[in-house]
Amino acid sequence: MSVKVNEQFYAYSSDEAIKEQGEYGGVVTTIMKSLLETGAVDAILAVEEGFDLYDAVPTLITDPEDVIKSAGSIHCGTLNLAKPLSKYLNGAKDLKIAVTCKPCDAMTIRELIKKGKINGDNVLLIGVNCGGTMPPVATMDMIRDVYELDPKDVIKEEISKGKLIMETADGEKGIKIDELEAQGMGRRENCQRCDLKIPNNADLALGNWGVIGPLAGKATFVEVCTEKGAEILGKVIDEGLIVTEEPIEKGVKIRENVNNFMLKESLHKKEEDYAGTTGDILDVLNKYKEDLSKCIKCYGCREACPLCYCEDCCLEAEGPEWVPGGQIPTAPFFHLTRMVHMADACTNCGQCSEVCPSEIPVAKIWSTVNNKVRDIYGYVPGRSDDVPLPFTEHPL
Ligand code: FAD
Ligand code: SF4
Repeated sequence: MSVKVNEQFYAYSSDEAIKEQGEYGGVVTTIMKSLLETGAVDAILAVEEGFDLYDAVPTLITDPEDVIKSAGSIHCGTLNLAKPLSKYLNGAKDLKIAVTCKPCDAMTIRELIKKGKINGDNVLLIGVNCGGTMPPVATMDMIRDVYELDPKDVIKEEISKGKLIMETADGEKGIKIDELEAQGMGRRENCQRCDLKIPNNADLALGNWGVIGPLAGKATFVEVCTEKGAEILGKVIDEGLIVTEEPIEKGVKIRENVNNFMLKESLHKKEEDYAGTTGDILDVLNKYKEDLSKCIKCYGCREACPLCYCEDCCLEAEGPEWVPGGQIPTAPFFHLTRMVHMADACTNCGQCSEVCPSEIPVAKIWSTVNNKVRDIYGYVPGRSDDVPLPFTEHPL
């Protein structure tokens, strides 16, 4: 079947076991299994449930029979998959890898492709929509304290119609997500700010928004974003591995409306986050000087950042750039240096804030500066491969 870029489908797996185990019809899992079986890729990078629902484990799968273990969505995953891909899998330079990616995974991978840290020819991006992820420990606390449920009893959590719903064997309990977030619970702060919910920067974008009618809850909405995506989808359809239907027009509209609503909410969050600063680097450093003074220079943010890639980091105390005697710079300058490196590329993935022992809102600070760069240069990180970074000369 000839599939074209921008085409949209409802789809579900023909494999009953995968369909059952998949989040919404098991299409991602079916595609991944087929890519491995046909040798189109050497491995897939996906996310498996570890100890429990609150434990998202990135996993490299090479045996097609193991792919089913990665079916399902884990919303408490704070990880960004660009890091294992660039750091531990040598930027896909030796292996062809298909990655299941949230929009921020895809954005960061695209930035690293531009920086030559990931081989874009060897990577297939199978995108999943994302309304946001939640921090595991805080979420378990919230389930105990606010929902008055045992986190172990929760079978599934999802955001639907403005509520964060916890499902147990006894039924569902939903609380308005904006009420939770006003009290510092719910989605991670960077996810609340995120302005890409449908990963049209991946090869395919799959999600449940817009699936209505008899297939609601049993199928996934698939949007074809690139020629590579069209080829992948065409093959699994031809092989009879997935069943597709034309989406219901009203469903297409609903998907668009939900997405627009979520983006509007993100914009409000950004306005709140960026209030009180022009976004200029020195102004931002000044606004957050008290927070930044708590920095203990543990290098946690640098280590966690998927886009921080210099092999010889000038922030090392032994580096020649710093004060004689091996002193690392005072907090604002430590961060100023990172900002200069990251200002154009930061994808607001939030990994830095997750790890900071001093609870400095690092991601918010970076995102404020990055937003200013967007305004000045019109460059939005992670959306495509063919636009050069504003601060680097890159041979495209
Ligand atoms: P499956 O066949 O079940 O495959 C799911 C794939 O996602 C697997 O490869 C799995 O490894 C991977 N995965 C699981 N957790 C993660 C994670 N944390 N990070 C990266 N990959 C992961 N759709 C919407 O329409 N609206 C939403 O708001 C929305 N939010 C989501 C939030 C998250 C964190 C995730 C992971 C998905 C979300 N989705 C959302 C997508 C939706 O849940 C399904 O993934 C999609 O419909 C595909 O269904 P499937 O049955 O084909 O997937
Ligand atoms: Fe400083 Fe926090 Fe980064 Fe550690 S993680 S270096 S304390 S900002």
